[in-house]
Amino acid sequence: RSRAQVLLLVKSGGEKAVAEWQACFRKADPRIEVRSWADPSVDPADVRYVMVWEPEAGRFPAMSGLRAVFSSAAGVDHITCVPDWPRHLPLIRMGGEETAQRMGEYIAWACLTLLRETRVFALAQAERCWANRESPFSARQRTIGIMGLGNLGQAAARMLQGLNFTVRGWSRGRKDIPGVRSFAGAEELPEFLAGTDILVSLLPSTPETTGLIDAALLARLPAGAGLVSAGRGQHVVEPDLIAALDSGHLSGAVMDVFATEPLPPESPLWTHPKVTVTPHVASQATRQDRAAYVAQAIAAQEAGLPLPNVYDPERGY
Ligand code: NDP
Repeated sequence: RSRAQVLLLVKSGGEKAVAEWQACFRKADPRIEVRSWADPSVDPADVRYVMVWEPEAGRFPAMSGLRAVFSSAAGVDHITCVPDWPRHLPLIRMGGEETAQRMGEYIAWACLTLLRETRVFALAQAERCWANRESPFSARQRTIGIMGLGNLGQAAARMLQGLNFTVRGWSRGRKDIPGVRSFAGAEELPEFLAGTDILVSLLPSTPETTGLIDAALLARLPAGAGLVSAGRGQHVVEPDLIAALDSGHLSGAVMDVFATEPLPPESPLWTHPKVTVTPHVASQATRQDRAAYVAQAIAAQEAGLPLPNVYDPERGY
């Protein structure tokens, strides 16, 4: 390895994916040498960076020359739960325009799915039933409330505004986003919910957000509201959601993330007539896009420049 090269260890997408990551990083920055997390010939002391998904304990302590850890996805909870992850180093969440673009597309699709009640038509189609009915609302008459106005929430807000939905958002701190009414903190949550027709969850997984979407929260939404769950499965108390759907208080849900993944075959969500299930696919940028993002961040770190999307242990995300 020449002095200009840095060694990146990759655990993301299984062993077969490593060759693809190598090709992507060759294009993004040929100075980055990519090796597999499982490669026994790698001397841990040579490793400068890792990009991982669910790394196992016991590997980090020997990597004495490590400079930063990259999550191969936007969440980092799968790394911070490892007892010996290197807390003294920057931990970087996957970001970039493509991740936000794809999440925006998913949220726009999910809100339109609820607006146009496409689950009803999917079930009717399977029965060869001509379920002709009017859509009760257009986007102009619906307000979407986005919980979490970060990279992804803001991208989703822009796309929803383009569809003529009214958009409001809830976050820890107040945001100044054109056309988006911003609510902040626990005290403004009830008012935010009371004016939300479709609730979109794009929060990170933290102790504060775990179990947040429960019976009490759902009861604060207007009757007939919908839910899009695309942050983390831990946010939603699934039995409470099912009860709210069954009672008719909620009209539908689109869910990409679940308390247990893959969603177990016995989960009632699979077949619920008001629930559309997708298998945690809302936003995954291509390997090429993610390699470009990581390569750029590595170049910044090597040049002593600030890094993007660094995990903050105080905030918990
Ligand atoms: P960011 O860190 O950019 O944004 C997080 C937002 O959540 C911020 O606006 C923050 O508020 C808000 N927030 C955090 N904690 C609280 C709280 N306790 N109360 C109110 N608001 C809170 O994250 P991203 O937008 O990049 O990603 C969001 C999440 O989406 C990820 O953590 C991940 O779990 C999920 N995700 C899901 C994917 C999928 O395929 N389903 C793919 C990618 C990500 P403030 O700005 O005021 O601090």
